[in-house]
This record gives sequence, structure tokens and C-alpha cells, in this order.
Amino acid sequence: MRDKPIATPSRTREILRKYGLDAKKSLGQNFLTDVSVLNQMLDAGGIDDQTVVIEIGPGIGALTEQLVEVAKKVYAFEIDQRFIPVLEEELSDYSNLEVIHQDILTVELQEVIPEIKHHSGERIVVVANLPYYITTPIIMRLIASSIPFDCMVLMMQKEVAERMAAGPNTKAYGSLSIAVMNHCQQDIALIVPRTVFNPAPNVDSAVLCLTRRSEPLVKVDNEEAFQTFVKATFQHRRKTLWNNLMSVFGKDKTVKSKLSIILEQLGIDPKRRPESLTISEFGHLYEATSPLRDCSEKTN
Ligand code: SAM
Repeated sequence: MRDKPIATPSRTREILRKYGLDAKKSLGQNFLTDVSVLNQMLDAGGIDDQTVVIEIGPGIGALTEQLVEVAKKVYAFEIDQRFIPVLEEELSDYSNLEVIHQDILTVELQEVIPEIKHHSGERIVVVANLPYYITTPIIMRLIASSIPFDCMVLMMQKEVAERMAAGPNTKAYGSLSIAVMNHCQQDIALIVPRTVFNPAPNVDSAVLCLTRRSEPLVKVDNEEAFQTFVKATFQHRRKTLWNNLMSVFGKDKTVKSKLSIILEQLGIDPKRRPESLTISEFGHLYEATSPLRDCSEKTN
């Protein structure tokens, strides 16, 4: 590594000037200019010389430079063509870096990364200072995939990290928390002020660590339908669970009486608010209401 890392305000300015670049807001480009934040991200992911890293959006290489110093191999996926020559030139000393000009939302990672295609136990970690405009779709895509990652260490907007990490009976708890917790254990590793970015975003950030569970907390026949059900149940947060279920299933007399029996059998008080339900209660409710869902789908 050169005397001064890329993740400093002066080097970042220098590189942007040297290559005649500016940050594109539309691609969520905010460059990190604080090495201590990056080192905390590496520590959180336990990155060492045995780790294979997938980096999303390397930009001009602030995080990439720290990763290639310690990781076994780094695959860095960048959508913006302008950064490819920058990364190739500024990080040319590192033979363990592969820069890939692809959209992370469409690339087939198993086709590009041999350690995924022929996985033989390597530790795979996803690390990123995420482009905020597509934080949720990226995370959902990775969680839904069969990529054998151990954990993901992701910088994102603080409020989104709080929603993803939230548990029941909190304001931030919702369908997003449930979608994430079903597959990963969630921990907020650090809160990051907006001042460590160039340009500074309008919001503070947080680093969220998501550790893949060996089994989902709730096993359902159709994950997408489960997520849709949970989302619909959270539609009116201030209303009771019963009123939300009325909106989901309609107010037909027979359906109402079936729903009330189901809730009684599950020991769930209909007067509770949706945010008080645990993921396993949502799982049981989803399974038990499947026949009602099939009926309402047929009548719609
Ligand atoms: N990692 C750098 C850093 O920490 O300074 C840059 C982070 S910046 C917040 C997000 C980066 O993601 C940008 O370089 C942007 O071009 C890239 N990006 C945006 N959308 C992308 C996508 N769909 N696939 C891959 N990279 C993307």
C-alpha cells in the first residue's frame, strides 16, 4: 500500500482530479475517506488470508485497497465503467484482485466466481459500502440465492440498517426485519457519520453484519407468498392484527369465524398489533391461513 491510503480526503480528491471523475448521485456514489471505519468493517467480517471476498461497488478503491491487503482473493463488481481503469491502475500491485464490470443485480455470481461454482469450504464474505438506492434489492437477491456466504458486512443508510436489524415490539420492526432475520442473524456493528464520505450523503450510515443461518427460522412452502402475507399484515401498523387480517382476507362471515378459530388455536390475541408478533408466530399464522388464502385467491 502507498504511504497514504485511498480512503483519505486528500487521496480521494487527488484520484478524482487525476482521472477527471465526479460522483454520480444516480449510482449512489459516496466515497469513504476514513480508514478506521474500513478497518472496523474488515474486523466485523473476520477478513483474513483465508477469506474470499465479494465486494459490491468498489468505486475508486477505498475499501478494495484495505481488502486486498488482507484477504485471500477479492472479486469486486462495479457497474460504472469509468472506475475500471482507476482500480486496475491504482491497485495494480495486487494479484489477488479481480475487478468485474457487471451489475450486481443481474450477474450470476456462481458463473463468475470459481470458489462459488466449486465450493469446497472456503469462507466467503460479502463486503460493501452499498449504493443506497438499491440496498434492499441487493440484500434480498443475495439472501435468496444459494451463494454459500458466511456473512455480509454492509454499509447502508442508518434507518434501513435499523429496520433490517429490528426485533418485535419496536418501531423499526416490520416485514423487512422478518425477511432478513429468517435467513440471517443481524447485528449493527457501527454507526458512521455522514462526514466520512465524499460527497457527504444527507443521512448517517450504519454497518450491518448479516450472518447466514444454517436453516431458516421459519420454513414455509413459498417464501415469496410468506413475505407478501407478512407485508400485508403490517399494512396498517396502528390497527390491531384482527383489522389487518380483515383487510387481507375480506370480511366474509365464514372466513371471519375460521380466522377467529385459527387465532384462538394459535393462542394469538386478535387485539395485538402486528408489530408484537414474533417471526415464528407469523410462520404459524401463515401456514394456518393457507386454506383461506387459496379461497380468497379463487374468488378474486
Ligand atoms: N466502495 C467505494 C467506497 O467505499 O468508497 C464506493 C461506494 S459507493 C457508496 C457505491 C458504489 O457502487 C459506486 O462505485 C457505484 O458505481 C457502485 N454501484 C452502483 N450500482 C451498482 C450495481 N448495480 N452493481 C455494481 N456496482 C454498483
